[in-house]
Amino acid sequence: MIIGYGTIKTIAVVIALILSVGYFSWRVNHLLRLLMIGKEENRFDRVSARLWMALKQSIFQSSQFRVPKPDYTYAGIMHILIIFGFLILLPGELEFIISGIIDGFSFSFLGERLFNIFLLSQDLFIAAVLAAMVMAFFRRFVLRPAQINYHLTAYVILSCICVLMLTLLGMNSLRFTNPEEVHFAGVAARWMPITTSFVSVTGLTNFYPVTFEVMWWLHLAVLLFFLDYIPNSKHLHVFAGIPANFFRHFSPPLIKLQPINFEAEELSSLGVSKVEDFTWKQLFDGYTCTECGRCTDQCPANNTGKALSPRDIILSIKENLFANGRMLLSTPPDQRNGAERVELIGGSIEKDQLWQCTTCGACANVCPVGNEHLRAVLEMRRYLMMEEGDAPELMSRAVKSLEARSHPFFGTGAGPKDWRKGLDVPIFEKGKSEYLLWVGCANIYEDRGQDIARAMIRVLKKAQVSFGILEESRCTGDIAKQMGNELLFNELAQQNIEDFASVGVSKIITLCPHCYNSFTYYYPEVGGVYEVIPHVIFINRLISSGVLSLKKNQRTIAYHDPCYLARHNGMVTEPREVVSVLGNLVEAPRNMKSGFCCGGGGGNYWAEEEGVKINHARAKELFETGAEFIATACPFCLLMMTDGLKKVTEEKKAYDIVELVDL
Ligand code: SF4
Ligand code: SF4
Repeated sequence: MIIGYGTIKTIAVVIALILSVGYFSWRVNHLLRLLMIGKEENRFDRVSARLWMALKQSIFQSSQFRVPKPDYTYAGIMHILIIFGFLILLPGELEFIISGIIDGFSFSFLGERLFNIFLLSQDLFIAAVLAAMVMAFFRRFVLRPAQINYHLTAYVILSCICVLMLTLLGMNSLRFTNPEEVHFAGVAARWMPITTSFVSVTGLTNFYPVTFEVMWWLHLAVLLFFLDYIPNSKHLHVFAGIPANFFRHFSPPLIKLQPINFEAEELSSLGVSKVEDFTWKQLFDGYTCTECGRCTDQCPANNTGKALSPRDIILSIKENLFANGRMLLSTPPDQRNGAERVELIGGSIEKDQLWQCTTCGACANVCPVGNEHLRAVLEMRRYLMMEEGDAPELMSRAVKSLEARSHPFFGTGAGPKDWRKGLDVPIFEKGKSEYLLWVGCANIYEDRGQDIARAMIRVLKKAQVSFGILEESRCTGDIAKQMGNELLFNELAQQNIEDFASVGVSKIITLCPHCYNSFTYYYPEVGGVYEVIPHVIFINRLISSGVLSLKKNQRTIAYHDPCYLARHNGMVTEPREVVSVLGNLVEAPRNMKSGFCCGGGGGNYWAEEEGVKINHARAKELFETGAEFIATACPFCLLMMTDGLKKVTEEKKAYDIVELVDL
């Protein structure tokens, strides 16, 4: 019996599919088993909201356009073409593979109308993906943005996609001339405009069966290679991207740290020191990273020459997981002590980088797949701080001050009541005062902060708000949390909650966005639930309700967005409304959620920064707007800007918004 080419083709295709899909399945299974090494975390809640988030972020690539930068917009458009192309060409690939097993198979059984629409979709998106490939090569060879990696793998992937599209276009063109595909040729002019144009440009009139078969096999070979190469390359995000957007953290807040249950019996170590201490979602972040570099491009520490790169943090976690994967999969957790492994902190990740993070959230804000760099950094800090007591000297002194005096401002000459001198400040009275004004330690112990507190007292009195402060107060504990000392945060928070309960506090006005963030998202975890409002939002309400009337002034004011108001909590409009009443708003080049950090967050107010200081860079940028005043709404931002501006001017230019209201 003579076996025909058709039979040989079918057998060869089936074998190739079994080998390729088999390897793919093995690799995916291995990757999933590695993920399962991580700790549990529920990202399967609010399923319909998650599905919408996955659709919005993956299909329309909305994160790609969050920061108004030409290269990001360019890449965003390119990715929209690719993702739509990927989804729309998928049925065509299915038809292609089945046609290798069943000779002559096509979706023509769908009926003429549907089949024609299918042909049109394939035709248009082959062109769309080819256009995206031209854009991608142009970006890599001509535009060459600094933030992307120029690894060989990207060129391999792009070349594969080009071959896939060109062979599809070639095969479709040849099908026009195939006398056995009458329908194809008949609909061509109306439903396949791209292929029709290609045929007329090339002058193709004859069907070349050998050329067709060569293209067919080349297409299959590249397709199967692509399938197996992806789970071994950075392009794993092609498969992981949509799930990543489904598993995204809901904001606000931009980032939410997991609480530590200090009572839990299984708590062997505080924070993260080993890759398996992360949750599966945190490990998954490594799989989904596209290596686009936007996080590092936006990072204020990296921007000012420091070693910290949020992209490298995410990728180093993945590399550490891969390096230790075999040991972790073969060794039960209770037998891993002493096992040979690549260390995470000090091995894959330099610990200095962990302390350089200002917790500004610029990385998480811009990441197209919702990675949580900052959370990983802070969880490793928890280990360094609580298990090793290994923090930079000034931060350690701030923590010691917090432990001894309940505030981090060591070396201050100010006493807790100094800021109130000469001012009649109401004390919160149970059943009488409506709002607790939470002054915050920066406004109690730093001179410029004290000006903010005094201005706020005057403004609230002028507006006849029912409020009071606590006679004695301590830090919210937010600084301790951001530096990694969760134990200290819990102690301080619980003491504050007891104080609040003793006088019946239910509504809090904060002068510091860091305090706002902690009261709103972390105090409920330790039993304190309050209605919390940042002072600038409260002032805006007083103005818009007519309780506070201000005269419009012609001065120019540049507004610096505090990270914990804008990025972490999305509060960008209200402060601008207040500034617009106070004068003429001038926008800094980097503003709102894309603003540039002052450098003082995450305990870095007490950092000994190497190289260019973040606050100097930001102050210069604000100064160069030419605005007469620089306004902000966070005491740490004000202190950092006041210091930074000294480099460029002797004038006093930086103010908290409430000080301008009070002028
Ligand atoms: S939170 Fe800010 S400072 Fe920290 S890694 Fe992200 S961008 Fe850099
Ligand atoms: S972590 Fe996100 S922003 Fe950073 S390189 Fe990866 S995908 Fe891009």
